[in-house]
Amino acid sequence: MNKKTQKLQSIYKTFEENTAEYRSKAACTKGCAFCCSEAGSIDITTLEGLVIQDHIAMLPRPRGKSIQKALVQDMKKREAGAVNPCPFLLKNKACMIYDIRPFACRRIYSLHACSKDNPPLLSRHAMEHAENTLRQLQRLDETGYSGHISFILYMLDAPQFRDTYLAGDSRPEEIMDFGKTHRISINKMMV
Ligand code: SF4
Repeated sequence: MNKKTQKLQSIYKTFEENTAEYRSKAACTKGCAFCCSEAGSIDITTLEGLVIQDHIAMLPRPRGKSIQKALVQDMKKREAGAVNPCPFLLKNKACMIYDIRPFACRRIYSLHACSKDNPPLLSRHAMEHAENTLRQLQRLDETGYSGHISFILYMLDAPQFRDTYLAGDSRPEEIMDFGKTHRISINKMMV
């Protein structure tokens, strides 16, 4: 798994290098957090979820507990169809997991200041790089799943799912049941 997480970092780095020119024209400013508050689903892969979960496990216990609470609240709101800010967004609009944030967050920027009527605008070239990168991430995580950040982290919290994933297996029926129970979309990687 270590090799896979190293490869994950290398894929992020290559994307950032390949799109630096486009992202340098971004209108995004510190403290905006529009994408973290108004975005729909923040989809991550299981491997990205594992990196975030291991990071949470190293935090002081009260911090870890409050994150778990925020994740469960986010799940409930999303199950009810509400738009909810990312559970990792701090009150000062900073990202609690910035250094290990998933690709869904790394790929997004905007060429203009955003509002509800004016969603993020990206260059076509950056979007093409993002789609290629996404395919690499899916290939890297071929036994995994993708879905909204809170749901993937919740699934990884279940020992039977985490153990199955770490063993390189997958049990699509269990994931389908989980998705149906929570009325959410969890996708098997299409490689
Ligand atoms: S993980 Fe961080 S960057 Fe991504 S949506 Fe959440 S707060 Fe924003």
